[in-house]
Order: sequence, then structure tokens, then C-alpha cells
Amino acid sequence: MYQTLKSIVFWIVPRQIILRFEQQFRSLVTLFYKGKQTRCLLCEVHLRKFIDHKTGKLCPNCGSLSRSRILWHFLNQQIFSKKEPLRVLHFSAQKYLAKKIRALKHLQYTTTDYESDVCDQQYDITQIACADQSFDLIICYHVLEHIKEDQKALQELYRILKPGGMLLLQVPFHNQKTIEEPFNEVFSEAKRTQLFGQKDHVRIYSKADFKQRIKAAGFQLEVLNYVSKIEGFRNFGLEPSDHIFIATK
Ligand SMILES: [Zn+2]
Repeated sequence: MYQTLKSIVFWIVPRQIILRFEQQFRSLVTLFYKGKQTRCLLCEVHLRKFIDHKTGKLCPNCGSLSRSRILWHFLNQQIFSKKEPLRVLHFSAQKYLAKKIRALKHLQYTTTDYESDVCDQQYDITQIACADQSFDLIICYHVLEHIKEDQKALQELYRILKPGGMLLLQVPFHNQKTIEEPFNEVFSEAKRTQLFGQKDHVRIYSKADFKQRIKAAGFQLEVLNYVSKIEGFRNFGLEPSDHIFIATK
């Protein structure tokens, strides 16, 4: 129902208006999902249930998926609660998550998205216009599967991270070897969707290969199953396979 409603709204309402009144639209949809059975860990709204979307359990109020709710819980409880004045760079930030992080005044927070002008910066991740060792924390969720030169991107992330800093990563996986588009070739949208799961993805990783690529850029790596540490996680629409890849320098 949500997807149908969304398609209708996008068909009849101009995109600029939708973006301007997005939260009002969301609040309206949330009325149908209000309840006491569950709660969104990101926006704190109480719900009867999450929207069963093709990409996972979606919060009607803030538009977050499981991965953003887990990430917020981790950041808020484990990192930001220490009140250290961290410099944070966030690639392709989920809108509501960015709003929550930006509200924390002890952080110096920068959002970046190569394809969006509503962010602070539009850095090219393979050639980031920042000095070496600029950031304490970098968040790079669901980005590298879009990048042909992902190894170059990882080297850049390593370069701009401070020693002792932390890079948080996530990408989609499958259970076979990594498949990717050759460097000098561009597949059709249909072929990309068939092979990689989305028309703008250029690769689908195996977990082992993803870990190897992170380490090859010089990082230490820990794969954290953080969901299992959240009491009652099954009640919060969280996906147990949403591990946090923590790369440190
Ligand atoms: Zn929410």
C-alpha cells in the first residue's frame, strides 16, 4: 500500500513540493501505522508496525531502514555519548539520521553526496578535496557498490582519516564471489539490476572480498554484530545481518 501511495503522490505532486513538505507527508502516512507494538530507534515514534518495503522494514515517520536505526543507536550510545569534539564526515547520509547527528553541537559534522546539492559538500570519493588526516569519524554506508574505483576510494578514506580514527562501512552482499562491471565498460540498467540488484550499482561484493579490500587500503577491521547487543531488538524492526564494518587507522 505504501509503495502505491508513494507512486501516486510522486505522479501528481511536483518533486520540489514533495521535498519541501516531506515530513508533513510522512506524518500523514504515519497515522495509519501508529500503535504501541514497536518503536523507531531513530525518530522515537511509536508504531503498530513498520512498513514492509522491498528494501526492508521502513519507518513511515523518518523513512529509515534497519541499518540507519542500528547505526544511530551505535553512534549515540558508543561514540557520541563521550561528548568528544569529533570531526565527522558522512557520505550519502539518510536525511533524518543527518538531522539527528547535526543537532549534536559538540560535533563538527559535514555531509557529502556527489549527486545531491542538498548536502554540505559534493566530494568525489575517489579524489576527496580534503587535507590528509581531516576527520575522526567517517560514515560511508551503501556507497562503495556505486563506485567503479572502490579501492581508490578506500585509499582516499584512509588518507583523510586521522590516526586512531574510525570509518564505518556497509554495502550489500551476496553469497558468491564479488561480481563487478569491468572498468572500461558500462552495462545497461537492466543488466546492472539483474547482476547487482540495482540500476546504479556497479558491483555486488562477497563478504570475504569486501573485508580484504578494506584491509588492503591499510585499515584494521572489526565486523560488529551490534544488533545482538540491543535488548529486545526483534521489537524494533532491526535486521540481524546488518553488521557494522568498523575500519580503524
Ligand atoms: Zn523513524
